[in-house]
Amino acid sequence: MNAILRDATVPFYKPVGNECELFEAASANGLPLLLKGPTGCGKTRFVEHMAARMGRKLHTVACHDDLSAADLIGRFLLKGGATEWVDGPLTRAVREGAICYLDEVVEARKDVTVVLHPLTDNRRTLMIDRTGEELIAPPGFMLVASYNPGYQNILKRLKPSTRQRFLSISFTFPDPVTETAVVARESGLSEARVAPLVRLAGHVRALSGMDLEEGVSTRLLVYAASLMAGGMTVEQALEAAVIEPLTDEPDVAQALRDLIATVY
Ligand code: ADP
Repeated sequence: MNAILRDATVPFYKPVGNECELFEAASANGLPLLLKGPTGCGKTRFVEHMAARMGRKLHTVACHDDLSAADLIGRFLLKGGATEWVDGPLTRAVREGAICYLDEVVEARKDVTVVLHPLTDNRRTLMIDRTGEELIAPPGFMLVASYNPGYQNILKRLKPSTRQRFLSISFTFPDPVTETAVVARESGLSEARVAPLVRLAGHVRALSGMDLEEGVSTRLLVYAASLMAGGMTVEQALEAAVIEPLTDEPDVAQALRDLIATVY
């Protein structure tokens, strides 16, 4: 009974390599982990799966270019005329011995790096300047970050001094058999109908870096398959879930339609 209950609460994730073992080893050794890979290839789902499977609380932060150290650490807020300290998600994770996942960490402001450095080496310390607190992370605390090396923005690369503090795993799109199983399971569409979608994805991904900034993600395939499972035609589903999200250029959109015609 317990096993059934536990499984029901663990988000589905199909491993592609030894990433689950690596995650557990990183956690056991108190090491931070960096997940590299294109958008929509399963990084977030992987972290959600591992946190649930290990029975650990997870604090996820979607980083953006306005996100500062204070957003992660916390701030004094005015409450009923008095100021009160409110922990940010990183501080909460450290206090609770939880997992903190910084999605797209390179997007965050530079001052975030200053906070992460003492937390990601053997000091495992979070300095809260505003309150004068110095928290030592308990053994359960784990920092996981992700970034997409595909975005060729020189200003937004992770500096070696930061990346060399993390164990790292490269994520790519799953192999066709795995991806077919994943998309079928997520969308409810049969594997037989998902297989051509995955084949199409292979062709589209071969174009990335040329006409397309990035290939079609597993996430978009799940969207397309979900629309098809709901009764939408292949053409309409692919227009909304693949062509439009990938490009604004009419020529490229037409090239994608031609590619679709070779598969369907
Ligand atoms: P990322 O964080 O890399 O941008 P996500 O983790 O949000 O991507 O993945 C997008 C979607 O792709 C998920 O919601 C899930 O449906 C699906 N997915 C991708 N890879 C896997 C996998 N290996 N196992 C299960 N689902 C996956």
